[in-house]
Amino acid sequence: MRTLERLLQRFADTPRNIVIKADVLTRGMRMTTGLEAAGATACTTGLSTKVARSINQSPPPPSQFHFRADDTTVDIKPSDTSPYRIECDDAGCHHLYSEKEALGEVYFTPRPAYVDRQTSDGQGCDEYLTQRGPSCLWVEPISFCAFVRKGEACGYCLLGPAMQLRIRQKLARPVPDYEMVAEAVDIAWEELDLRELKLSGGALYDTHKEARLHIECLETILARVSAPEEITIFSQALEKEDQKRLKDAGATNVCFDLEVWNETLWDRLLPGKAKAVSRKEWMKRLDDAVDVFGRGHVGSNFVSGFECAPRPGFLSQQAALESYAEGFRELIERGIVPWFTIWNTHPLVGGFEESDPPPTEFHLQLGAVIHELLEKHGVYRDLGFSELGVDPETLGLYCYYCYTMQFTRDYPRLIDRKTSDATAAASS
Ligand code: SF4
Repeated sequence: MRTLERLLQRFADTPRNIVIKADVLTRGMRMTTGLEAAGATACTTGLSTKVARSINQSPPPPSQFHFRADDTTVDIKPSDTSPYRIECDDAGCHHLYSEKEALGEVYFTPRPAYVDRQTSDGQGCDEYLTQRGPSCLWVEPISFCAFVRKGEACGYCLLGPAMQLRIRQKLARPVPDYEMVAEAVDIAWEELDLRELKLSGGALYDTHKEARLHIECLETILARVSAPEEITIFSQALEKEDQKRLKDAGATNVCFDLEVWNETLWDRLLPGKAKAVSRKEWMKRLDDAVDVFGRGHVGSNFVSGFECAPRPGFLSQQAALESYAEGFRELIERGIVPWFTIWNTHPLVGGFEESDPPPTEFHLQLGAVIHELLEKHGVYRDLGFSELGVDPETLGLYCYYCYTMQFTRDYPRLIDRKTSDATAAASS
């Protein structure tokens, strides 16, 4: 039996497009001429694009595809061994296939016109912006990670080494010119229905300085454009006073990513974070953030599968499942929203093989655990869902377009999906 068929049988209660999405994220996407051609007219801004530019790879494919039926959004990670591919039919419509089986029509976010425009320093706007989905922009207040420079990077991280490469190749400055970032946001907003701004970049040993740079970046942007609905900060866990300053500057959500739950592995796998903050203090600052920003506005990411990398000293897959589940339960009880990124290896990040991460089943089991806990503790209401089966009214922490390599945000919108009459008529 093929892997996808087996997964659909085993996770029969999970919406079909979540199962397909989890498997595509885990196993990647084979390149086809149809997909390569789509890269010319689709949005390709994203981490993979920046990495591709740094190492002079051929033009990248679209960053993501979206299922036409329900807008479920899937990151595209090229892989020569994947059973998945996207083909274009004679009418110009794209379809996802697993071997010969058609899995649904898909579309791409169109290539935004601002990528061909420049800020007043002569840089392309897309040097300052990453677009994920149709309505979010991501900017970097800090374009380097101090932990990478000291050999204390998080063990799974591609972002830090990629930022380091871009600086070495003079494609980016360690701290960007915030006036230019603001100008790029302003130019992009002329054509985008911008609903959310995300600030995310590297980390510093001095978290006060990290907070200051985030605040300065945000204030400079908001001096030029009006605030979108949501502004989310991805940083290390900041002290409470710094959190309040961020909120005063306009931030509505914070994500302080723990990445690993097991206490012993935390120090070993995240040496920079352990030195800058420590796990105990990280937890305290997450609690502080719930005081400052409120329930449904504080999140923490994990790297699913990294705790059970097949290397000495890591956990077994079963022990890792139990460890993550314990972490999710504890965070949810404290008012913090957990989620996870599927662990993928990359040649730039030393020491791990493409076959080291666990299979799709592992991630789907974790997804089911998070969904059950969030539902049981009434967290979906805090996240803007008045009912299940519909897309959230506000994006924020539950934007289903822009969180990289993740699928937990699709449970509340796809479980018991309610289809509007117009959509049903169009698809019948
Ligand atoms: S803090 Fe860790 S995850 Fe973040 S950029 Fe640095 S090494 Fe990567």
